[in-house]
Amino acid sequence: MTGAPRVLLLPGDGIGPEVLEEGRAVLQAVAPDVRFEEARIGGAAIDAEGAPLSEETLARALECGLVLLGAVGGPRWSHLDPSISPEKGLLRMRKELELYANLRPARVVRALADASPLRRENVEGVDMLVVRELTGGIYYGEPRGREMRDGVPRALNTMVYSEPEIVRIARVAFETARGRRRLLTNIHKANVLEVCAFWNEVVTKVSREYLDVELEHQLVDSAAMVLLRDAPRFDVVLCPNLFGDILSDEAAMITGSLGMLPSASLGDEQRGLFEPVHGSAPDIAGQDRANPLAAILCVAMLCRYGLDRPEVADRVERAVEAVLEEGFRTPDLARGRSGERPVGTREMGKRVREALA
Ligand code: NAD
Repeated sequence: MTGAPRVLLLPGDGIGPEVLEEGRAVLQAVAPDVRFEEARIGGAAIDAEGAPLSEETLARALECGLVLLGAVGGPRWSHLDPSISPEKGLLRMRKELELYANLRPARVVRALADASPLRRENVEGVDMLVVRELTGGIYYGEPRGREMRDGVPRALNTMVYSEPEIVRIARVAFETARGRRRLLTNIHKANVLEVCAFWNEVVTKVSREYLDVELEHQLVDSAAMVLLRDAPRFDVVLCPNLFGDILSDEAAMITGSLGMLPSASLGDEQRGLFEPVHGSAPDIAGQDRANPLAAILCVAMLCRYGLDRPEVADRVERAVEAVLEEGFRTPDLARGRSGERPVGTREMGKRVREALA
């Protein structure tokens, strides 16, 4: 990357602007050379510009390459035609930036292990990353649709992957495994799906470039069970689009805290969109109640995968953990235990920045 890195901030709607402001302040503290730009997306863009994502904003996103987003949507825009809904802006952004790799970490912070719906002893130590193929597979495959066959109505979709599509997502998974515990679990259903048998062959071929990473193959149904029984064993989990959609949500639930989950969608040439998994939470917007930690952990992902500064990312993650260990809790994390120290959005952000120092 030449020159100062540029990050486009897209606060969006609802709690988006509140949590993104805390993310921005953390990024500024740990990467003072970053230059910020800001634009509208979602409902805010519909109101001001007549469309959920203007051509100008899209051009700026392509120019900056790195985008930090809050959340989009809300009841105010729910009457609109789906073709111009706030969410359409986000979908278009992902498509135009050609973001084919979706990274969803699921990490159980020790101080929050009781928030998991599973028993503490089954989830302590969970630190996994689902790498999901995002632009291919059954969600996009042709032929698709409904038809009549011999007078009988039916519907179909097609799960299809080309070798280059598999190679590029496998490389992302192996590279990320290298920066972690070096175990890659490849998820498949090769016992019944030819496309998965092919996927496995290509992943195995790519693994020869990464002899320092252990590769294992696991059936998707078995992985869904192991996630509940022994999630700490997983490190990086590579999935085709459909399986990744399901397993990343299952893994997220294990952590038990929606307000803590970041995500990154990556493309080539250090392009990336970093956004919390949660939505715009209109029920608590504007009340200083939103948990900004997902947005702050997005900043850690931006440092790790967008700026290639893993040590800075570690620092941000450690600061978040320290603040939780000290007992600070936004309302969504509060469990009414002794030692909890209730804080709002801004105070939580401030505490993280103090912990960084
Ligand atoms: P949501 O994630 O916005 O909220 C679900 C519940 O979790 C709510 O009770 C909310 O208060 C709580 N919550 C979410 N994030 C929180 C945070 N950071 N801190 C504390 N509590 C938090 O999901 P929803 O209610 O189904 O959707 C609301 C709107 O968001 C809808 O318009 C939906 O389309 C949109 N949405 C957007 C995205 C996105 O921008 N990527 C994702 C999901 C939903």
